[in-house]
Amino acid sequence: MGEYSHILVGVDLTEESRKVAKRACALARAYEAKLSCLHVVEPLSLAYGGDVPMDLSTIQEQIQETAKSHLAEFANLLNIPPENQHLIFGRPETEIHSLADQIEVDLIVVGSHGRQGLALLFGSTANGVLHGAKCDVLAVRV
Ligand code: AMP
Repeated sequence: MGEYSHILVGVDLTEESRKVAKRACALARAYEAKLSCLHVVEPLSLAYGGDVPMDLSTIQEQIQETAKSHLAEFANLLNIPPENQHLIFGRPETEIHSLADQIEVDLIVVGSHGRQGLALLFGSTANGVLHGAKCDVLAVRV
């Protein structure tokens, strides 16, 4: 057994997350570690600040269903079994931290755009994950 025994990769299910997930897979193989993946579905109400005068629950359910099948497809490509695939509703940074604690991972892998200047002010998921993580975090440049 190697230095890492359980790796968690955060995937936003974009093309980019393939690169991130591939890196996580390669590390898992090298360390003979278990690999888990997580996709966080963000609440629509969060994005729109609760200002939308309509019921978003049906749309939210559809988003959740679509995310579920995309995550399964994605994870199958990477040979991650269903029990190691996680779909959680919430804020990515928060949920990545809390799942990492819960399933006791020792490395979190996320993608990073390496934004500079103004864009940095808005923060990135990678930054958010790094701050407050209780284990190592690898930011894969995408
Ligand atoms: P971003 O800062 O939003 O461009 O995201 C950078 C990285 O954070 C992605 O490559 C993922 O590894 C992770 N990430 C972002 N959004 C999510 C999400 N909804 N669920 C899981 N991981 C995410």
